[in-house]
Amino acid sequence: MSLRKGILKNGWALLFFSQAILAGAPSADVSPGVKNIILLIGDGMGPQQIGFLVQYAHNAPNSIYQGRQTSLEKMMREGRTILSLTHPAHALVVDSACSATQLATGVFSGSEMIGLDADGNPVETILERAEKLGKSTGLVSDTRITHATPAAFATHQAHRSSENEIAEELLRPDVDLMLSGGLRHWLAQSVNQKKEAYSQAVALTGGTINIYSKRKDEKNLLAVAKKQGYALVFNRGELKKTPAETPKLLGLFSASQMPDGILHHQTELNPKRTVPTLQELVVKSLEILSQNEKGFFLMVEGGQIDWAAHNNDAGTLLHEMVKFDEAIKVVYEWAKGREDTLVILTADHETGGFGLSYSRKDTPKPTVLPGKAFASKLYKPEFNFGAFALLDKIYQQGKSFEALFSEFDGLPETAKNPMHLMHLVNENSMFKITGEEAARILTVEPNDYYQAEHAYLGIKEYPKINDFKEFYVYGNEARTALLARALAKDQNVVWATGTHTDTPVTVTFYGRASQSEALSGIVHHKDVGQYMRRLLS
Ligand code: MG
Ligand code: ZN
Repeated sequence: MSLRKGILKNGWALLFFSQAILAGAPSADVSPGVKNIILLIGDGMGPQQIGFLVQYAHNAPNSIYQGRQTSLEKMMREGRTILSLTHPAHALVVDSACSATQLATGVFSGSEMIGLDADGNPVETILERAEKLGKSTGLVSDTRITHATPAAFATHQAHRSSENEIAEELLRPDVDLMLSGGLRHWLAQSVNQKKEAYSQAVALTGGTINIYSKRKDEKNLLAVAKKQGYALVFNRGELKKTPAETPKLLGLFSASQMPDGILHHQTELNPKRTVPTLQELVVKSLEILSQNEKGFFLMVEGGQIDWAAHNNDAGTLLHEMVKFDEAIKVVYEWAKGREDTLVILTADHETGGFGLSYSRKDTPKPTVLPGKAFASKLYKPEFNFGAFALLDKIYQQGKSFEALFSEFDGLPETAKNPMHLMHLVNENSMFKITGEEAARILTVEPNDYYQAEHAYLGIKEYPKINDFKEFYVYGNEARTALLARALAKDQNVVWATGTHTDTPVTVTFYGRASQSEALSGIVHHKDVGQYMRRLLS
């Protein structure tokens, strides 16, 4: 960065100097390492999800950005962006555990593995490396701290679903700061009996978090953390009051995931809000981690971009992108002009095969255009290429698909009918569905891929998906994809899958990056992992 500016300001001498560096000549003036690395991961944030945010910011007539650039754009404009493949060692498409592992370790990994190489051997992660260098380390996510992406930076497990074991292991490498959701994996199972352990947990957490446990043992990991010197916080007020000098901090702000993007934007201005925003987590993280003179490694995840895209839920996806952009803003401003910090903004993969698309429905009416070519004829494109105003309507969705269906599932059995679903959807979306469409969304068929012991395929009746049905793998959650299909024709939104695609993702380097070692072209995420490792010193 500064080098490029220098070329413009100071002319040929510096140009020669920079070429010497590009050619690999040693220079005492450019130290090979960086003190701080901040890794921003938009889970499921493929190039098309980025395009969606930027289109919304600039083209929606009533965009909340009001013509301002997104922070993601600023980072891309001032940094350098390349493309990266994400696949596992022996497969085409990656999951979040394997992808985060490859970023964290710089080696190929296997599907659904955490912190292991492709054979299943533990590999030192960039976070563990940073610890050894005496740096501070932090993990931040709006999902659960035990979820695949954060877990892969500090634990080593055969499978991502071992979240109870991950919680225990997170306390072993001594991650200095962990801020996220997922309290349910830190509480002893006896809290579920709603007796003494339960009351103690309610008292400790201040009563703002739903108390239940997913553990199968009596381990109280909060007590373990406390013994290891962690300050514990459970709400926004406590987080705010936490001094910057706090050496170790564990913040768990919800039983499972933190609020989705829509709920977040509906509640962020509420002064009584107890759950901090992703942005607030990042502010506090930087305040604390930057106290270490030796520097820090911080990973921040916008983890629910992926979840919205799995659900084929365009409205929530847009809110998740905005939410992540709010977190990027803090990092962008903090790192701006710093020579000692490298920021890497990337995704672990694309989710949903998402896109805005043109259709044969509602083709445009002829209009008059002032240009010469239309002096004697009207302008009439053959297809519906999508109006800018659609972006505002998509943003106005009132509830995530997940929240809608969880509300529907909570109704008494007799009320679970298509009419009720239709009303629920139509109250919460600018795009309306008919009773017939609602009936189609609730239609089930025998599960062709039934597996008795499988976490998701163990249901005998499966939502009836009509296209690419094999790619809707999460059981009843597939209903959201059927809702998406009902809305698609009016939203100009399409989805290819309920899982991930192999779409290469962007990797943006911002702040200090060694010019001589810079990655270029199209790489693989393990290369990005190795690059981080080389630069951290
Ligand atoms: Mg994730
Ligand atoms: Zn995913």
